Amino acid sequence: MIKAVLFDMDGVLYDSMPFHARAWFETASNHQLISTPEDFYLFEGRTGESTINELYQRTFQRNATDQEKEFLYKEKADLFNTYNNGNPMPGASDVLRKVKEHGLQVVVVTGSGQHSLIEKLNHDFPGYFEREKIVTAYDVKYGKPHPEPYLMGLEKAGVKPGEALVVENAPMGIEAAVAAGIFTIAVNTGPLDDRILKEAGANLLFNDMKSLSNEWDKLMKEMN
Ligand code: CA
Repeated sequence: MIKAVLFDMDGVLYDSMPFHARAWFETASNHQLISTPEDFYLFEGRTGESTINELYQRTFQRNATDQEKEFLYKEKADLFNTYNNGNPMPGASDVLRKVKEHGLQVVVVTGSGQHSLIEKLNHDFPGYFEREKIVTAYDVKYGKPHPEPYLMGLEKAGVKPGEALVVENAPMGIEAAVAAGIFTIAVNTGPLDDRILKEAGANLLFNDMKSLSNEWDKLMKEMN
């Protein structure tokens, strides 16, 4: 019996990934760190710290210092805030409406460290989110692809892995959800090949949130 749906945020609820990828790629390029724009879709879900270490390992075969991490993360965040238009993902509110119609809890599990997330979510999707049911970068030690954020999401909902569904768009997010033992629905809203999301362990794959909302009633019948 499904009781809760755990939503990733960037690339699922918000159409923000192109701006994250652009901000990361420009920050990396400004500091001669080796990367491609697509890398940031593959890294998606990791903490900022872990992404910066990966770039330093690649380029200098060492982790970044705390000072370097702080400096680069700020540069990336400033660029992201300049580019981001804040638009919700098309179809996201349709999925949320379906989830509520079926009487399921809604939880957000994000690697984002944005402040006042709950205010933004409540503004863009009124009536769906509660402050106590959001897992952010501030709550976790490891971050995705570690199962920790999704395990914490289950705890906040008070449900077992078999009583939840995850909606994710990124390979590492899918890995995290699958490692937490949760049935994982991939929504491929970015440029990566479907194959990469399936290989990460996705149980189902949709091309966008609208298709997922169209199939939701059927899916619930099959799952319950
Ligand atoms: Ca995401």
